[in-house]
Amino acid sequence: MANADIVIIGSGIGGATIASGLAGSGASILILERGEPLPATPHARSTRSIFVDEHYRPKEMWREAGGAAFNPGNYYYVGGNSKFFGAVLIRYRKEDFSELEHFGGVSPAWPFSYDEFEPWYSKAEQLFRVRGTLGEDPTEPFHSIPYAFKPVPDEPPIARARAELKSLGLHPASLPLGVDIEAWLKEGRTGWDAFPNTGQGKIDAQTGPLTAALADKNIRLETGAHVDWLETTPDGGSIAAIHYTQNGAQKTLSPKLVILSAGAINSAAILLRSPSATGKGLANSSDQVGRNFMNHNSSAMLAIDPRRRNDSVYQKTLMLNDYYLSDGKDGKPLGNVQLLGKIDGNMLKANVKTMPKFALDYMAGHAVDWYLMCEDLPDPESRIMVDGKEIVMQWQRSNMQSLEGLTKVMRQNLRACGYPIVLSRPFDKRTPSHQCGTVKMGNDPATSPLDPFCRAWDHQNLFVVDGGFLPTSAAVNPALSIAAQALRVADHIRRTELAA
Ligand SMILES: Cc1cc2nc3c(=O)[nH]c(=O)nc-3n(C[C@H](O)[C@H](O)[C@H](O)COP(=O)(O)OP(=O)(O)OC[C@H]3O[C@@H](n4cnc5c(N)ncnc54)[C@H](O)[C@@H]3O)c2cc1C
Repeated sequence: MANADIVIIGSGIGGATIASGLAGSGASILILERGEPLPATPHARSTRSIFVDEHYRPKEMWREAGGAAFNPGNYYYVGGNSKFFGAVLIRYRKEDFSELEHFGGVSPAWPFSYDEFEPWYSKAEQLFRVRGTLGEDPTEPFHSIPYAFKPVPDEPPIARARAELKSLGLHPASLPLGVDIEAWLKEGRTGWDAFPNTGQGKIDAQTGPLTAALADKNIRLETGAHVDWLETTPDGGSIAAIHYTQNGAQKTLSPKLVILSAGAINSAAILLRSPSATGKGLANSSDQVGRNFMNHNSSAMLAIDPRRRNDSVYQKTLMLNDYYLSDGKDGKPLGNVQLLGKIDGNMLKANVKTMPKFALDYMAGHAVDWYLMCEDLPDPESRIMVDGKEIVMQWQRSNMQSLEGLTKVMRQNLRACGYPIVLSRPFDKRTPSHQCGTVKMGNDPATSPLDPFCRAWDHQNLFVVDGGFLPTSAAVNPALSIAAQALRVADHIRRTELAA
């Protein structure tokens, strides 16, 4: 297959899911992936290897605008960042699709409603075999199809935490998860959040949609294929060629359709690096490519009770959305609270280098570990830029009042649940795990690079399908929304481009 009908750049949630949506269409499809498959080695379940030695982190450095270089936690493997994800596969709430006022400003409306998008969420939940339950969470939007699998069970210390939160009048709910817990634990008794999935325990982009897509003999994956830039036709209206490097060789492909799914930061970088008549890169007549970079404002919160051990293995089964739409006092939204995977001394050591390991082991052994997540609002000055081959990040955080409010109210709640020590620490730019917004979709070509089906307004045969298209970050994990839109775009391509 020298030249495919469709080339998809990247095999993460966006790329793999759109490939699965196009399977069976008869089109020849080639997925170009920069990384290789993750090997199954003992490192995969060693917190020392993963968090202290940073065995899986890329070798590349990014730079803060006007500042220092840093090594980002952005993963380049078949399946992309989802190989390491916490497998929370949650829908944006219905209200997230409309304009919503926050403490730090306004979150704009999506170009379509929740009701229009809902069937694609249901299809994505089926594809990723999501486990969950309806009726526990007051913010849960309408589901046309219930979850097909029961939620991953709470371990005893978490069942206790659920009861404690309920006793305060709150509504803890089971996290919707793409985790086959028996398969995961069979390969090692650890949590899965931030651990690489080298088996079948997590339903990530590779074990879910990519495997389904590659069952079609017309779909192929090539690894170690690093896309460098895109070339347009002389009039600029279409993509004429993809230029990439594989095994040291420069290669070119000229498919009918190009689907760019390299992740929000790398897709923006590829577009910005590509030559254009304006010198501003491709798909960029709106001057919005690379702008509106969002990444959630989030903190880890450890609720510690020296009298009680937390001997959970995986822990990550609960969320709390009581403060999602309001601060609980009829004020503006704060955000989502969910459990982290069980923390241990090595994970803490990676962040708190000055404390002795035995003290960190003790602390971790007596803590229930939470993740507080608040909406990061789109801001054109929050940007991904390029300087030659280098990625430059200018992340303007927004809406930090929500994180402060959520931290305050959760500290009070956890103390009321009987944890005398509650510590919190925000995540920083080294963790761009919820990156989104850099190539946003919208109804107006003057203000958005993509139309509501993720087609570039400027180039009729280019689609961008990854976290970059998200116009808002909401305050929930992004993967299910990326997957649902990928299925919606695949359906659109089948109807508009591939119909006989
Ligand atoms: C530790 C961690 C935990 C997370 N937990 C959750 C969670 O619980 N729930 C959730 O919803 N989200 C979670 N996320 C975020 C989630 O993983 C991402 O939102 C999602 O994977 C993004 O998918 P994507 O397709 O946009 O991009 P990516 O996953 O980044 O995929 C892009 C792909 O393109 C490839 N690529 C990049 N550049 C090039 C190039 N130049 N040429 C060719 N290929 C290229 C990459 O190697 C990669 O395979 C987590 C992320 C991390 C890191």
